Order: sequence, then C-alpha cells, then structure tokens
Amino acid sequence: MRIYNTLTRKEETFKPIEKGKVRMYCCGPTVYDYVHIGNLRTFIFYDTLKRVFEHLGYEVKQVINLTDVDDKIIKNSRERRISREEYTEEYSKFFFEDIKKVRVEPATIYPKATENIDKMVDIIEVLIQKGFAYKAEDGIYYSIEKFKDYGKLSGIKVDKGLSRIKADEYDKISVSDFALWKFWDEKDGDIFWETRIGKGRPGWHIECSAMSNRFLGDTLDIHSGGVDLIFPHHENEIAQSEAYTGKKFVNYWVHAEHLLVDGRKMSKSLHNFYTLRDLEGMGFDPLSFRLMCLDANHRDKLDFTMENLKRYEKTLNDVNTSFKLLERLSESNGAGIDKEIDAIYSAFDEALMNDFNTHAALAQFFKLIEVANSRIKDGKIGKSEKKNIIDKLRRMDEILDIIDKDSISQDIIDLAEKRKELRRKSKWGDADEIRRDVSNKGYSIVDLEDGGYIIVKRRKYAM
Ligand code: AMP
Ligand code: ZN
Repeated sequence: MRIYNTLTRKEETFKPIEKGKVRMYCCGPTVYDYVHIGNLRTFIFYDTLKRVFEHLGYEVKQVINLTDVDDKIIKNSRERRISREEYTEEYSKFFFEDIKKVRVEPATIYPKATENIDKMVDIIEVLIQKGFAYKAEDGIYYSIEKFKDYGKLSGIKVDKGLSRIKADEYDKISVSDFALWKFWDEKDGDIFWETRIGKGRPGWHIECSAMSNRFLGDTLDIHSGGVDLIFPHHENEIAQSEAYTGKKFVNYWVHAEHLLVDGRKMSKSLHNFYTLRDLEGMGFDPLSFRLMCLDANHRDKLDFTMENLKRYEKTLNDVNTSFKLLERLSESNGAGIDKEIDAIYSAFDEALMNDFNTHAALAQFFKLIEVANSRIKDGKIGKSEKKNIIDKLRRMDEILDIIDKDSISQDIIDLAEKRKELRRKSKWGDADEIRRDVSNKGYSIVDLEDGGYIIVKRRKYAM
C-alpha cells in the first residue's frame, strides 16, 4: 500500500503500528447545520480509506468526531432558545442520514467533543505543567514558540519573538498562539463546563487531540481531513499531542482536496452552495454524487457541475442495467476469458493500493462492465465466465458500492408480471398505465428483445 503523506510530502509504503491493524482518526463535522456536498466528498473519502484497508485484510478502527460545541452552535442554539444538546442532536441526525444516503459505512466510533471534556482538561493541565501552555485573561493558550517542530506539517515558519508572522503559503492567516480553553463569557449563557482549569469550554483543536488519544492511543497510523485543515487545525493538533505524550502523533497524514462548484469555492453568496438534500430535491440519486466523488482522486480538486452530475447519473444507471442484464443472461458451455477478467481485477486492486486511486480503480470496473456488455450483446455467456464476472464486480463493489442492492418488493414484481401479460394480449393502454404506476413507485421496467424485462431503479437524469 502506497500513501502520499502530507507530512513528508512523499509517497510512502504503509507500515502499520500493529500488524494487521489500522488506527485511523478523521476530523468529522461541526454539527451546526446541514453538511454540504464538499463535506460529503471528504466523508466519502474517509469511507473509501476504511474500505480499502478492510479489503486488504486489515482490521480498521476508525474514529470520526462530532464537534458539538463552538461559537456558531452557541449562537444558533441560544437564538432558537433550545439547548445545545437538542440543537446538535438535530444536526447530528441529519448528518447520519446524509452519509447513509451516499452509502458511507459507519465508523467504529463517533465520539462527541462534549463527552470528552475530562480528557481535554487532563491534556491542558499537562501542557501547563510542561510549559507549553499559559493562562491569559480570556483563556488558556498554547505557546507555539515552545514547540520546536511547529510548522512541520504545513511548512509554515515561526520567527522566534514575533507572535504574528505571515507565511508564504498562508498569506492571510496569522500564525499565533491559539486557545486551548476559553473562559466563560456572558454570551456563552449556560453553555460551560466547571473544571479544574476553570469555568469555560474547549478550543476546537484540543478536541481532536483528546479524542484521538483516548480512542486510538498516543500514535495513530492515519489522520485524515480536508486540505483546509492542514493549517492551523492539524498543525495545532500535532503541537498539542506531541507536547503531551512526547511521542510522534501520526505516521501518515492523508488530506483530501476540495470540491469546487463551477470552478469556484462553494458559498451561499455565490448561490452555488448545495446540500445533498438540494440535489435530491432536483431529483438526483445520491449515488450519482458518490460515483462522481469516486471518479476523482482525493488529491485532485473536484469540479462539481450539474451537467457532470447528470452524466454520472446516466453512468450509474447504465452500470446497474448491465449488471441486471448480466445476471439473467443465458449460459452456454463456451470457454470464458478468465485470465482477462482476473487481470482487470488485479489492476483494480493495484490502483487502490496506489494511494487510493479510485479513478483508476473505477476505470477497471467499467472495463469489466464492457466485457459484460459484449456478452449481453452476444446474447449468451459461458457459465464459469458469468460467475467470475459477477463475483469480481461484486468484490469491486465492496469498495465502490454503486450497485443497487434494495430488493424489489413483491407488489412491483406482481405489477410487472401483470403488465407483461397485458402486453401479450396487446392491451397496450392498460400496460402503459401499469408502467406509470411502477414509475411512480420509483422503478422503471425495461423491455428486452426476448420478450422479458428487467426492473431498475427509476432515475430522472438517466434517460
Ligand atoms: P467542517 O464541519 O467545516 O469542520 O468540515 C468537515 C470536513 O469537510 C473537514 O474535513 C473539511 O476539511 C471538509 N471540507 C470542508 N469544505 C470542503 C469542500 N469544499 N470540499 C471538500 N471537503 C471540505
Ligand atoms: Zn480535527
């Protein structure tokens, strides 16, 4: 397994800390609003990370945190006159619904920041004792000058004696000491924790140092997030965690590039800001978005356009139609091309082992679909060949997860059978009515030359 490591700026061969196991921390959402499709791209990538390691036989422990206290959460929940708990519960629920729709498998643990305050307090106390942190009027701060490796991840340089330095890559970002703990202030209302280090609430960065340490230990195999988190969030996590434990924090830093919309950053003022719910409202299948994400490598920007999404919806539909047709294809005794199929499958694995290259892996999946399509065109397929292709497509789909899996309910099947009978009797009008009925229930009946049919999920943009 080769992984591009942001820390070393090189591709490296993956070596786990513990044989056969991967300990992985992925920065999760701040649950103050619906996640947008950019966030979702990153969450789909976290899922791919986990699936690829599992596919290679590793046991993966994946921690994705929920940030359930911050300025926006405090402000919004107070404005709505509901508790912080109630407010964040609501958006956590939406988060889980959205990731499920794009088939992100559950992480091992989703710890909440507010349930790990005790660990944050422990770490902050140690940082004060070791001289890395100091108390100021409004909170407890981390002194970045004290950590000699500060800047090793992002390449930012800190000049001794100056608190605010502008660095080349991060022109607009000031490099400065950051808050570990924020003392209570009137605008926080009843949102505070009474602790040994004072009454207040944690800074954002300490949350991830605390939860990663508690659930995964001092050193992690992998830490992931979007590229915007490299600085300052991940730089600060390193400073906190390594000062606390005296050990290396993370072996492989893996960052996912951003999703852009029509070539620009997504923002509400540009009216190019979308949630998954927006796309669903337009009639898209969430899996089309998943497919779009998989077709881009995590280290490349993904330019989202509606036109592209429509194209992916059509591809998604074609792939699923081919798979259904393959399953019902009649078998002959002819010899198959097992060697070619196996070669495609090996190339698929290799692509994923090459820094999670899902674009190249997907190309192999499509190649195998092409093989299936040519047999479908012939009208027959060798028995063992059919089994081999289906088996390999299914195994690839354990990572890609774009094949329809919901079993079609009996009432839909009954309707389709009834329609077939009506067509046999040339009752076209009645047959069409049933087709519309089935369509309203979310499925399409595709008639085949041999008089049979298949039932596929109805997709608005697949026609
Ligand atoms: P947040 O809730 O803002 O902390 O973001 C959750 C995750 O989404 C983080 O890993 C971010 O890096 C990532 N993220 C934010 N914006 C985008 C974007 N436009 N494209 C891809 N990932 C993003
Ligand atoms: Zn984080």
